[in-house]
Amino acid sequence: MRSSSKASTVQCGIDGWIEQNLDSGRVVSRNQVSSSSWSSASVYTTDSGTKYFVKQSKAGADDGMFKGEALGLQAMYGTHTLRIPKVFHYGQLADAPGGRGLGGGGYFIVMEHLNFTGRASQEELGRGLAQMHLAEPTEDNAKQGKFGFPVDNTIGGNPQPNGWMDNWVDFYRERRLRHMLRLVNDSRLTDMGERVAKNMDKMFEGVKVKPSLLHGDLWSGNLSVVEGGQWAILDPACYYGHHEADFGMQWCAGFSGPFWQAYHEVIPKDPGFEDRKQLYMLYHYLNHTSLFGGMYKGSAESILRHLSTQQKR
Ligand code: ADP
Repeated sequence: MRSSSKASTVQCGIDGWIEQNLDSGRVVSRNQVSSSSWSSASVYTTDSGTKYFVKQSKAGADDGMFKGEALGLQAMYGTHTLRIPKVFHYGQLADAPGGRGLGGGGYFIVMEHLNFTGRASQEELGRGLAQMHLAEPTEDNAKQGKFGFPVDNTIGGNPQPNGWMDNWVDFYRERRLRHMLRLVNDSRLTDMGERVAKNMDKMFEGVKVKPSLLHGDLWSGNLSVVEGGQWAILDPACYYGHHEADFGMQWCAGFSGPFWQAYHEVIPKDPGFEDRKQLYMLYHYLNHTSLFGGMYKGSAESILRHLSTQQKR
């Protein structure tokens, strides 16, 4: 079976790519399982009974979204920790007659189809995630201690810049906090956020941050258990960052006591963890404010107030 991360242009359509490259017979059915404004996901089945999970972009979606997802899945797969679907191909379809205005026929990912019918304990999720965070980086930049990812990706529908930086606090300040404050574009939040951003260094005193591969959008909708009882994590917004930043979405992840205990048995809690967790949640609350507004703005504001008070101590 061929595995690739290059967005090569495919002339023969997704069926053709599967039939010519995966040695599992002819595609006999395609069942769409989800659809959003920028992509759809389908299960393709071949005459040998093999299933593939295929994501395809809609008009207007850009390359970064699919490339970011494919490279993120491949990076997590390479850690051999949690169960990640294997990416067989990431590509672009040749322009269809009458084109879709994408400068090509849209992007797609063909990946392993997983069966989500198993059960597993939260303890196993905690341990598996910690092991992924401790895995040796595969990217040279991360091996040299830098923070970022080879491509920019997306968080929800928003862009997420990942240009490499030497220092984690600088990376989080520029590429996460200030980037999101610009997207939200609210003068009150910007003023409060700027004060927190300027004083962030003291929240990391005595903490040694190493680049860990992060899922980047870890909430319950992206967590499932596969047949046989292994935890799978899907739909990532990966980058190399401080391991604690993967808890930025914990407010809708449902992590239980045994999860935290198992995680911290592998990676002990550093001093200041609870306040930094707020800092990391702030990024996602700001993202939600930018995407959905409303109640998320109040949550972002109350975290900013809490952090300003803590920073003055
Ligand atoms: P979207 O980007 O549209 O949110 P998701 O990646 O969340 O798409 O997937 C949509 C649905 O497909 C979810 O129910 C998810 O559990 C399921 N799914 C995702 N990846 C796979 C896979 N590799 N195999 C089987 N089902 C999957």
